[in-house]
Amino acid sequence: MPVRRRRDIWDVAIVGGGIAGLVGALQASARGLSTVLVEAALPGGLVATVNVLEDWPSAAPESGAGLAARLAAQARLEDVSIIESRVDALLALGAGDARFELQLPGRRLRARSVLCASGARLAPLGLPGEERFHGRGWSQCAWCDGTFFRDHDVVVVGGGDSALQQALVLAPLVRSVTVAVRGQLRARHARIERASGQPNLRFAWNTVVRGLVGVDALEAVQLEQIDDGTRTELPCSGLFPFVGLLPATGWLPDTVMRDERGHVATDRDGRSSLPGLHAVGAARSGGSGDLVGAAGDAAGAIAALAQELQR
Ligand SMILES: Cc1cc2nc3c(=O)[nH]c(=O)nc-3n(C[C@H](O)[C@H](O)[C@H](O)COP(=O)(O)OP(=O)(O)OC[C@H]3O[C@@H](n4cnc5c(N)ncnc54)[C@H](O)[C@@H]3O)c2cc1C
Repeated sequence: MPVRRRRDIWDVAIVGGGIAGLVGALQASARGLSTVLVEAALPGGLVATVNVLEDWPSAAPESGAGLAARLAAQARLEDVSIIESRVDALLALGAGDARFELQLPGRRLRARSVLCASGARLAPLGLPGEERFHGRGWSQCAWCDGTFFRDHDVVVVGGGDSALQQALVLAPLVRSVTVAVRGQLRARHARIERASGQPNLRFAWNTVVRGLVGVDALEAVQLEQIDDGTRTELPCSGLFPFVGLLPATGWLPDTVMRDERGHVATDRDGRSSLPGLHAVGAARSGGSGDLVGAAGDAAGAIAALAQELQR
């Protein structure tokens, strides 16, 4: 097991402090590797605003922020250095002790290996003029913005886990939630069950949002029934789109192989096409899309990285 604790050249530099990055940091430190984690926002990533996590082993219901805070505190105790900053770019320096340089605003870090745990961000709907409604009805955080829609009608778009999780946060606050679903529901069974039991939540099946209506703020959405192309206008004050994720991998060199959507292509141990760079969680191609999978990826990748660093 390596016993180096050099901090001028880190054994492992982790980009992203979501659950994959935090678990990776704990695993790396436990293996005696000097570890730095760089996180652009608050630790927690996509689940930072999730009030109750599903399918995460814990004795009692736990929030995403709570879990992230616990893992970050534990990582600091384990001698992980956590830097609050964005990573703008990664340079591969080639062979030698410091194979990588991470470029942060006003600062550079050198490392022997890099774990890409930069995850993903929620995709917009891609409708013309969508940005005009940001903060004026359009939101992707029910927990942060839900109370602004108290006693109003809102629309959630998407049939996955995140859409239903957010719809369930909104339902007790608002007058009605319409969940517009294009195809099948893909959410966890528990969330579907709970959503189906909400009296003010209804599903609009085979439905896509085609337009947003409003002058100063959102007043309605134009819905299209996929089967027959029928269009209707549904009055609402809030729109919460959860229609997929865009990988946050723009800071990596273009030469790193990615899939068609931008996720890093890896082998089973998270190895990318660039030696010394591993990718895990929502940033890697073929990730499981859940927390347990992201944590498992990170543990596996760090075990492989530790072996490579010993050679
Ligand atoms: C609303 C919602 C609810 C969900 N609920 C559950 C659930 O209950 N149970 C479950 O198992 N899964 C759930 N998921 C899925 C889960 O969120 C993901 O599987 C998991 O977050 C992936 O973790 P990650 O660490 O790979 O990436 P992320 O969570 O995306 O974390 C990546 C981190 O990297 C940081 N970052 C990105 N780019 C940079 C950069 N250039 N420099 C520095 N930092 C950077 C980001 O700020 C972020 O904090 C949910 C997802 C959503 C959207």
